[in-house]
Amino acid sequence: VKDFGIEKTLINLGIKDENKGTSVGGKFFASGKTIESYSPSDGKLIGTIKMSGESDYEKVITTAQKAFQEFRSIPAPKRGEIVRQLGQKLRAYKDDLGKLVSYEMGKSLQEGLGEVQEMIDICDFAVGLSRQLHGYTMHSERPGHRMYEQYHPLGIVGVITAFNFPVAVWAWNTALSWICGNVTIWKPSEKTPFCAFACQNIMNEVLKENNLSEGISSLLVADHEIGQRLVEDKRISLISFTGSTRVGRMVSSKVAERFGKSILELGGNNAIIISKDADIDMSIIGAVFGAVGTAGQRCTSTRRLIIHESVYDEVKKRLVKAYGQLKIGNPLDENNHVGPLIDVDAVNQYEEAIKKCKKEGGKFVVEGGVLSGKDYESGCYVKPCIAEVKNSYEIVQHETFAPILYLIKYKTLEEAIAIQNDVPQGLSSAIMTQNLREAELFLSHAGSDCGIANVNIGTSGAEIGGAFGGEKETGGGRESGSDVWKYYMRRQTNTINYTAQLPLAQGIKFDL
Ligand code: NAD
Repeated sequence: VKDFGIEKTLINLGIKDENKGTSVGGKFFASGKTIESYSPSDGKLIGTIKMSGESDYEKVITTAQKAFQEFRSIPAPKRGEIVRQLGQKLRAYKDDLGKLVSYEMGKSLQEGLGEVQEMIDICDFAVGLSRQLHGYTMHSERPGHRMYEQYHPLGIVGVITAFNFPVAVWAWNTALSWICGNVTIWKPSEKTPFCAFACQNIMNEVLKENNLSEGISSLLVADHEIGQRLVEDKRISLISFTGSTRVGRMVSSKVAERFGKSILELGGNNAIIISKDADIDMSIIGAVFGAVGTAGQRCTSTRRLIIHESVYDEVKKRLVKAYGQLKIGNPLDENNHVGPLIDVDAVNQYEEAIKKCKKEGGKFVVEGGVLSGKDYESGCYVKPCIAEVKNSYEIVQHETFAPILYLIKYKTLEEAIAIQNDVPQGLSSAIMTQNLREAELFLSHAGSDCGIANVNIGTSGAEIGGAFGGEKETGGGRESGSDVWKYYMRRQTNTINYTAQLPLAQGIKFDL
């Protein structure tokens, strides 16, 4: 571990052996039970952290409520300045935070650094946006009247995040929330508590340097029970939930029951169509990175390849060769391509999925398996594998959060699009083709039904400038770029009468 400088990184980020996981800014405190965080990379203990308890929860909510009263009155461009400073801090901490993401979550160092870069990018984006929270002005049908719309802050935004993007998803939500005038409470995944702790520490520096009130950015390191409280709490105006479809379904109905707002970013089952007119070299790189990057634990990971029959054998052969060259090992070692799964539970689910796939008739052309022995002591390393399947298999219809890639053959593009769409999820999709007609059909109303549809790039690796999210069981939410900020504000239509008469709309007469 020392070789990778992890101990120094933990010190730089303020992580000790024992830590407390609640913060409303400034100090950390906690009254809940203590959990341990182990690295899936080497199986070593990173540290222990006391989780938030009942009394901490109330303190966080009431402090956030108070902070909102103040924060909403700060002009949006001034709030943007705070986000700009957060971006600067993240630049300074990029190496340490990226390394911690890699160590605690298990993605490659490059991907860990990339995740921090996404945080920096969204801060830059939000700073510009803080001067562009525009509404429309309309012409009134009544003389001497003016109509326009404006956007106001919502209140408290609860951000519940998954383990696989342990820092970026917080930043996507928080940078936008803040410029919109909201305060945030973050409940991160209990599988990556130190990534969250480190982010809050960095944020606390910004709050302190600007003499801002506590409660603008709060942290609750906690398990699902506190997550559920946030979801059910009327004082939380918007719940931004990133996680599995199973939990998201519950979150969706609980928030709807109390007429709260939610953004749902749930599971994907993403496919690349490789057409007869594809550039095969590009297709192989796109497919392999999409399938094995982050060990198949991205919501946008490539799970299915839908390949034209005329290139099927060639693609299969080249995939088998490429998988033979993959180096699996410590993600902090830049020579490795594939790191570990998050924990032993995830390994069990991977093994279970392989068993199910075989039982349904799947034929493995690259076999999977769990790795053991030197360098694999954590028990979380698995072999990326490839199976030939039918799209209708139950296991293929499910998202297994592991590097299992399914191959499916097609004859016509219409058939390929139907296969691509024939899953419950609708997050990311792609076609590899140099044929304009195919590309345009894929992107048309008769094409992909996903929130993300790409041509000649893979399914993963979205940029922050676009709206990110998916349809169907992926939840329908959008985060990050474009006009997504509107989710974080409430919309108001204003009509002003500057005459001495009171004409009614639609010409209605009402004389007294
Ligand atoms: P998960 O659903 O197990 O947990 C996500 C979060 O929900 C955690 O913080 C967890 O503590 C919390 N939680 C669990 N039960 C809860 C409850 N009853 N009430 C409130 N909160 C609760 O997901 P995970 O295993 O951490 O992450 C993997 C999943 O996330 C995959 O399905 C992946 O596709 C999805 N994901 C989606 C996106 C996206 O943008 N669409 C991005 C990243 C991950």
